[in-house]
Amino acid sequence: MLSNSAKLLLLLFLQWTHDLNFCTRQESTRKLNILVPPSHSGLLNACKSCTFAGNMNGHTPGEPVDMNAVAVVCRRAWNAVEPRDRTEMKSPAQTVIIHHTALRYCDSVSQLAHIQHMHMQERGFDDIGYNFLISGDGMVYEGRGWGIVGAHAKEHNFNSVGIAFMGNFNDEMPSSASLSALLRLLHIGVLHGHIRPNFVLVGHRDVAKTECPGEYLYALLPKLRDQLQNQ
Ligand SMILES: [Zn+2]
Repeated sequence: MLSNSAKLLLLLFLQWTHDLNFCTRQESTRKLNILVPPSHSGLLNACKSCTFAGNMNGHTPGEPVDMNAVAVVCRRAWNAVEPRDRTEMKSPAQTVIIHHTALRYCDSVSQLAHIQHMHMQERGFDDIGYNFLISGDGMVYEGRGWGIVGAHAKEHNFNSVGIAFMGNFNDEMPSSASLSALLRLLHIGVLHGHIRPNFVLVGHRDVAKTECPGEYLYALLPKLRDQLQNQ
């Protein structure tokens, strides 16, 4: 019989090898898939033909951060599958719920397709569950987008926005680029009336029995709340 700690180690190892295999497989697939834009600039160019009304100006390191701008990669640019159904939110979101994908980060576009497939085929969701996802380099990826009810926190979806950081933040610290992108995305969300000005920022574990969004990311939420108040 295995002890509990041995079982935990075995589970962690299996998860790690699953992620590793997924990343290796996706990276080799990507080389063959000419439909996947080869770079972020390609992604942003592809966004010009999208109908998503986000501000797509990027940020160059070293320049002052423009709180009214964040690079958003729209669904078409990451080859999202059409949702089966969409439910519009009745009013601006009262809560923003932070998640992590808990997957070892590799290539964003491949991983987004993997997450959408997992959510739609294995969990039976109508679409990728999150409203937005943020990668380590500070790019924001449109999931369900603004004003659409997500599937990320049971019983809280109807009045919240779900934002997932890509990676496993039990193992690593979130990058400053991703945290800055979150603050700008939320600022824009309030400006455009998608989120209430007095919204509450919580981690998934605050509303459900889960480790999500990981220890390191969760520990930063009080600081992020302070920064939001001082914006
Ligand atoms: Zn979560």
